[in-house]
Amino acid sequence: MNKKSNMLIVDDSSLNRFVLKKLFADEFEVFEAPDGATALKQLRELDGDVSIVLLDLIMPGKDGFAVIKEMHEESMLSDIPIIVASAADGLDNELRALELGAIDYLPKPLEPRIIKLRVHNVLAGMENTRLTMRNEMLELGQYDELTGLFKKQAFSLATRKMLIDNPDEKYVMVLFDIDRFKLYNERHGMDEGDKLLKYIAERVATRLGGIGKYARLHGDVFALCYRYTKEHVQEMLDIADTSLSELTYGKELLVSFGLYVIENRKLTVSQMLDRCDLALRTIKGNYMNRCAYFDDAMLSAMNEEQEILSEMKSALAQGQFDIYMQPKCRLDTGEISGAEALVRWIHTKRGLLMPNEFIPVFERNGFIMQLDTYVWECVSKAIRRWIDQGIPPMPVSVNISRINLRNPELCNVLFNLVKKYNIPPALLELEITESAYTEDPEQLLSVMRTLQEHGFVVLMDDFGSAYSSLNMLKDIPVDVLKIDLHFLSGTDTTGRGGSILASVVHMAQLLNLPVIAEGVETREQASFLRSIGCESAQGYYYYRPMPMIEYEKLARRASGNVKGDVSLAGKVDIESFWSMDKQTNTLFNNVLGSVAIYEMHDDKLEVVRVNDEYLTMTGCSMEHFFGKNSNVLDWIHVSDRDDAVAMFREARQTHTATGRYRHKRADGSYIWVQTKAKFLTVNESRSLFFAVITDVSNIMELEAKLLDDNKRYSFIRQALGDQLFDYDAVHDIFYYSVHDSDSELFSRNVPDFWHNFSDYKNIHEDDHSKCLHAMERALRAPCKGTIEFRSKLSGEYKWYRMTYHGVADSSGYVARIVGRNETIKEPGADGGLNEYTALDK
Ligand code: C2E
Ligand code: CA
Ligand code: CA
Repeated sequence: MNKKSNMLIVDDSSLNRFVLKKLFADEFEVFEAPDGATALKQLRELDGDVSIVLLDLIMPGKDGFAVIKEMHEESMLSDIPIIVASAADGLDNELRALELGAIDYLPKPLEPRIIKLRVHNVLAGMENTRLTMRNEMLELGQYDELTGLFKKQAFSLATRKMLIDNPDEKYVMVLFDIDRFKLYNERHGMDEGDKLLKYIAERVATRLGGIGKYARLHGDVFALCYRYTKEHVQEMLDIADTSLSELTYGKELLVSFGLYVIENRKLTVSQMLDRCDLALRTIKGNYMNRCAYFDDAMLSAMNEEQEILSEMKSALAQGQFDIYMQPKCRLDTGEISGAEALVRWIHTKRGLLMPNEFIPVFERNGFIMQLDTYVWECVSKAIRRWIDQGIPPMPVSVNISRINLRNPELCNVLFNLVKKYNIPPALLELEITESAYTEDPEQLLSVMRTLQEHGFVVLMDDFGSAYSSLNMLKDIPVDVLKIDLHFLSGTDTTGRGGSILASVVHMAQLLNLPVIAEGVETREQASFLRSIGCESAQGYYYYRPMPMIEYEKLARRASGNVKGDVSLAGKVDIESFWSMDKQTNTLFNNVLGSVAIYEMHDDKLEVVRVNDEYLTMTGCSMEHFFGKNSNVLDWIHVSDRDDAVAMFREARQTHTATGRYRHKRADGSYIWVQTKAKFLTVNESRSLFFAVITDVSNIMELEAKLLDDNKRYSFIRQALGDQLFDYDAVHDIFYYSVHDSDSELFSRNVPDFWHNFSDYKNIHEDDHSKCLHAMERALRAPCKGTIEFRSKLSGEYKWYRMTYHGVADSSGYVARIVGRNETIKEPGADGGLNEYTALDK
């Protein structure tokens, strides 16, 4: 007779164990365990040689869930089928157990016939049981209301079944979410957000329906599992892309994907999704790379993360974190102007750890607040020390993790620090990374304002790394822009990124924002930066980050330290800076209005680059400007060409110039543009300009109309033969019209009119004081009046009648007196009228 196979019954009720054992004793060698720990011990002692485990879920100590989990993690035990026993109302528990990997459940109270049947079913062919059971499950509200897709549990069940039913197919598990979906919701409202989610769900369902399972897990997070082929993956990326751009015009949103090609089918669906999530995390905030596959390195990274987590607190307490300082230098003189504090972990076993090895972990688990606070405190202490020792204190910038911006205590922590060490807040500069600005602008703005009101200086770190644009900078009150050269150069050396850098610096100047460049590694870079007007720099070319003691030595003789060659390189090698990757492209296209980089040589103006706005404004496409022999001057109205060339020449001489000319559109019509050109640099005989171009057609039209109106008025005036005047009381200028001018209404003026009124000899002696009083009275309050007087405007004294209005400004004071003078033959009563009526304010 064959040896009976082994069964393990795990239940804390001895009665249950007894019943079950009796039921199966003739078929199986039955082992018993009263709790989870004992069960696992027995399984290991049996080397996993157990055909089936009947497992109670609710037990003291290690419960049934823990047993399932541990069994799945141990390869020796992970194949053993588990049937869980649970009370009739324990639906959630059943689902959870099944999701974790149990293969079936037994309803309690235990009914011998059913139990036997289930056990036999499981052992005979697991799938059948699963099917019936699953159908029961899926009836039970397992669909997401918004999108109609599965929720997580139903997805897990459906997926597991799919995997079991198709043992020879290769599958991929995918997790995806929409970057910055929260922001989208805030901007466009929840309804729009919901619409987007539904739309994506629909598209996914129709296109991937036949080959896999899909679900919305929560929020904007979707899970898919389907047959793995390269084409299917690509198709999925396309679906996400097109559905998003259809709804949002391709502007704002991107989707990131984490993929796990299922190698180990014993993993639970949750574990597979965890792997996707690990992969997804590696590309979060990275706008170039939107899709990542899980690999084993990620798993070891996760283990490493665990290790870091277990050590961090004691490391902080034991002073293993150290502050390194990297000086910042003025580009024009090479002098040190301050420093950035950068943290290092001097690990007892692993040596020096760089921030990128532990900061992301701390950001995930929240420990970053403690670490940052520690760094800020060390820096505050150092500044205090310098002040005490008479070392001229220079500002030190510290990094604020974007996680900390959500901490309501952030401002208080900083206020307390500067108070505790009694240091000027301006010396503790705050670096906030650009991505934080795009994540939650509202929240950030209020934090920033509070900090700035208290005297802190805020730098926008890593500008160019995320999505923000200079356009956005108008609304965000940062004090300094920090541009990382890495984000601008890329690896492509044939492109033209340097010009982008130049334009960013110039536009920052337009916004009155000082710029510091970081990551400066070569003399050429420093020279180029200087040539485009950047103020300061930080990078290996000047100093590497160094221990605090070394920095203090430097700071002691601060002004004597001059690093780097500060001369302007005679010939700047622009090509070496011209690399245009997608990132810089985004930047360039999000800047204020229409901009272009032009190159001029031999009276030919060529486009180096224009942004999308520019194309929209001119109705042109890139091809219009990049054809053979293409010359921007051909697009300028013939009669304006000389002016345009002169303007660029002037910019070459004086660095900036502005001009207006007519620019042709693709359809042949003309628009008036105003171009502000900034000279960037010269390369051999070629001058490079950065230009901001504004459509001023409307303004030009208005001006033309104004000119017309003035002409008309002057005809009327001439016809009337009157003199019109407009006295500007605020600036004390008397404007008046004369007959022979045909263009402007008031072609003459008398400055300091009231100031010199007593010396005004044009008015007849006898009428002088009368006029003076009338004027005084008119200036006091809104009024109208008439006064007759003699004046020798035309050589000899003649009688005039002046009708005037004292017109008040919004605050009620008379700001202008306007009116007309007409010649009269005879004065009215009492040697000339002098009438006055006060008007309401
Ligand atoms: P970051 O704020 O952008 O700091 C600049 C990083 O560039 C530093 O790396 C610095 O050593 C490095 N660097 C400076 N000059 C050059 C150069 O010429 N070439 C190159 N290739 N790199 C240069 P580090 O020290 O490894 O820090 C990395 C990041 O970790 C920092 O980037 C910052 O985001 C974060 N970090 C550092 N210390 C802290 C801290 O105390 N708190 C927080 N929250 N984050 C920190
Ligand atoms: Ca920084
Ligand atoms: Ca930076």
